[in-house]
Amino acid sequence: MFKEKLTSKLMPRDPKQRLRVERFLLAQISYIVCWSVIMCLYMWGMFRLNFAEMICFIATCAMANGIFYAVFLTGLNRKFAEPSLTIPQIVVATIFIMLTIYFTNSQRGILLIMYFIALIFGVFQLSRRQFLLLSLFALSSYAIVITALLQRHPDVIDIKVEVLQLLVLAVVLVWFSLVGGYISEMRSRLYRMHKNLQQAYQKIEELALHDELTGIYNRRAILGYLKEEIERASRYDIPLSVSLADIDHFKSINDTYGHLVGDKILRELAAHIKGCIRSTDRVGRYGGEEFLIILPHTPISRALSCMERCRSDIEGSLFEGLRITVSFGIAALRPEDDLDSLLSRADKALYEAKNRGRNRVCHE
Ligand code: GH3
Ligand code: MG
Ligand code: MG
Repeated sequence: MFKEKLTSKLMPRDPKQRLRVERFLLAQISYIVCWSVIMCLYMWGMFRLNFAEMICFIATCAMANGIFYAVFLTGLNRKFAEPSLTIPQIVVATIFIMLTIYFTNSQRGILLIMYFIALIFGVFQLSRRQFLLLSLFALSSYAIVITALLQRHPDVIDIKVEVLQLLVLAVVLVWFSLVGGYISEMRSRLYRMHKNLQQAYQKIEELALHDELTGIYNRRAILGYLKEEIERASRYDIPLSVSLADIDHFKSINDTYGHLVGDKILRELAAHIKGCIRSTDRVGRYGGEEFLIILPHTPISRALSCMERCRSDIEGSLFEGLRITVSFGIAALRPEDDLDSLLSRADKALYEAKNRGRNRVCHE
């Protein structure tokens, strides 16, 4: 419990922020190793700072990282174009490495490896160009170190070795940047592909569930939902009603005005029915000009009034400039019902509505 509370305070909930903080904390492990190296250098007399100065140096570095952590926890980083703050973090690390190398009296060459540790974090974000710029910055920082050492502490420097190291560092950094940039670009390409696939999957899912002409659920989807609703209503003993709606004399509309007009009417009517029902109700295209409406949590009396309102709405509206009427057959779920028996009773009610002169709501 306490651990959970602590984690929730130290780690953001948002997955993207969490990932950024995780990477940041990973970098802190490298820092701790680097600080240990500095302490070893100090203990073996290879560091030019005294104990208090060395502690101040490490503390300043820790504080800089503390600021990054605070920025992540407060979410301030989201205000930047690159919210993972990779570049500023690498820049700070490079400066820290530069100073460490500057204060080291000998064996500076081995410390150059630290530049790569800082730059490796770029593979999560940086483009090839950014990689090259940061490498250039690292290289310049080392050149500055050599120049400063030449001027202030020429006794601790062997210029031939330093120039050689600088050249090797330059070559390796360029290759490192090219490969790092390539990996990073491959990562973002994979990410984009993943996003596109996700979108395509959503589209396929939508196409699989929806009727192409009217945009409402297709027969398979609406029957699937009805199955689910029947199970839920039976298990929890809650009312459920269904309604079958069929356009009256639609064949003659098609014959008189053409199929294209018929199609538009179907589309408009589907939208109209959707507007009549609650957001928790569902409507799907059951057949050619037949619609199935599912009314969960609805007893027969409420289903009747709802469908009656819908029927009279349709009667009073124009579809493609034409007046149409619709007949409705309603059935409410009974304990012994399954999908087929419920639908067949709604169909029977619809048949009755047609027989009794159409443009009416009947129930079984
Ligand atoms: P009733 O009042 O008895 O329902 O008469 P009706 O003419 O509507 O019934 P019938 O079943 O004889 O005809 C249904 C018509 O619906 C036939 C068909 O041309 C039309 N229809 C079915 N699907 C579509 C469609 O996708 N587009 C168009 N335009 N018409 C369709
Ligand atoms: Mg029909
Ligand atoms: Mg019809």
